[in-house]
This record gives sequence, C-alpha cells and structure tokens, in this order.
Amino acid sequence: MQMIKCCICGERIPVISGNNPYPVRRWSAWGSDKNRCCASCNSEFVIPFRIAIGSSTEEQFDQIHKLLMSYSYGELKEFKKMLITLKKSTQDLKTSTVEA
Ligand SMILES: [Zn+2]
Repeated sequence: MQMIKCCICGERIPVISGNNPYPVRRWSAWGSDKNRCCASCNSEFVIPFRIAIGSSTEEQFDQIHKLLMSYSYGELKEFKKMLITLKKSTQDLKTSTVEA
C-alpha cells in the first residue's frame, strides 16, 4: 500500500485514506499522492474551516485560504483554539453567563 505524509501534520497515511485538505492546503483530487491530509486533520481543521468560511465571498474565501496555507500545523492548532475561545465568549456574552 502506498504511503504518503499528511500535508498538515506530517502523519504517514495510505494514499487511499487521504482527504482533500482545501482550503487549509492546496486542493487535491482523490487518489492523489500530493497535498492529502489524514482523517484527524480533516475533521479537526479542514471541515470546520470549510463550514466557517463557507458563506464568504470568493475573494474573502481566497484570502482566508492564503492565510491558512501560510500557517504551520502548530499555528493552525493555536488559530483554531483562538476561534473556539472567541466563539465561546461571544456565546457567553449573549447568554450573560460567566465561567471562571
Ligand atoms: Zn494530519
């Protein structure tokens, strides 16, 4: 079985298990041995970012894609943590509940 490296975290995965990493990394077709990501990066970054920026205009989408492309795996993790914190504090503000 041909193994490749996840283009986000570097984990070794079989080609057939690779996912299209767009918009976090360059778009790639199924079965490609380049620019594929593992299942955990797919559910951790790719899907959430796709959903998060899904309603953006093409131009905004492109800008965010370029930004995400410039982030390393560690930076992506930090970035996502920050987004979750932001989202959470917005929700906390709305419901007026304060967490320690
Ligand atoms: Zn990965």
